[in-house]
This record gives sequence, structure tokens and C-alpha cells, in this order.
Amino acid sequence: MARNFTHFFAHESCGFCTPCRVGTSLLADMMDKLEAGKGSPQDFTEIQELNRHLFKLSHCGLGHSACNPALETIAKFRPAYERRLLHKNFVPAFDLDASLAPARALTQRDDAAAHLGDDHE
Ligand code: SF4
Repeated sequence: MARNFTHFFAHESCGFCTPCRVGTSLLADMMDKLEAGKGSPQDFTEIQELNRHLFKLSHCGLGHSACNPALETIAKFRPAYERRLLHKNFVPAFDLDASLAPARALTQRDDAAAHLGDDHE
């Protein structure tokens, strides 16, 4: 049900703003991955991060609320999600922020909202 809602949001996104246009599609892909039994706990973290970006950067309520079905069901039915995980203890080896640090220093551009995994609010 939550996966179907995320596909609804991806389909209904008008495309006016990039965070919603791209983020709702990414969210639908993540929910497909979880439904297919190919997820890891990192996906829960990534959905929270995606929600933070969508809430801050989307123009209207569709983008603001697109992650709610996923987040609410993960919060209330987490064991049901966990039973479908392929990897229970997956920790990503690639650190995007560390990899981008030299480029950010070189260009002197460091948008706090573009960081993943840190809470810059
Ligand atoms: S947040 Fe609203 S305005 Fe922006 S792309 Fe989504 S539906 Fe369109």
C-alpha cells in the first residue's frame, strides 16, 4: 500500500521543481526495491534524508508529503519491512560527502542542504 502511494506521488508530481520531480521517482524506486526484498536498513535512512530535502525544497504540499506513507508505515510496521530486507547490517562503503569535500573546497561552494547524512537544520 505504501509503495502504491509513492508511485501515486511520483506520477502526480507536475515536475515544476526538481526536488519533487526527481525525489518522488527516487522514493518510488526505493519502495520497489524494499518490496522486492532487496533493501537494507540504509534505505530507511535514505528515505528520511529524502523527506528532509523534499520538505525543505519542494514548492507545494505534494512534495512535502510524498514520503509520509513510507515514513509512517516504517515507523508503525517496521518489523514487516525488516522481514523483507536482503541485508540486515549493510553499511555503505561510499561516503559521498567525503568524496565531494575537495570539489566543494576548490569551488568554495558548500550548500548545507546538499549534504547527506548530516543534520544541518
Ligand atoms: S512540489 Fe508541487 S509544484 Fe513542485 S514538482 Fe511537486 S507537485 Fe509540482
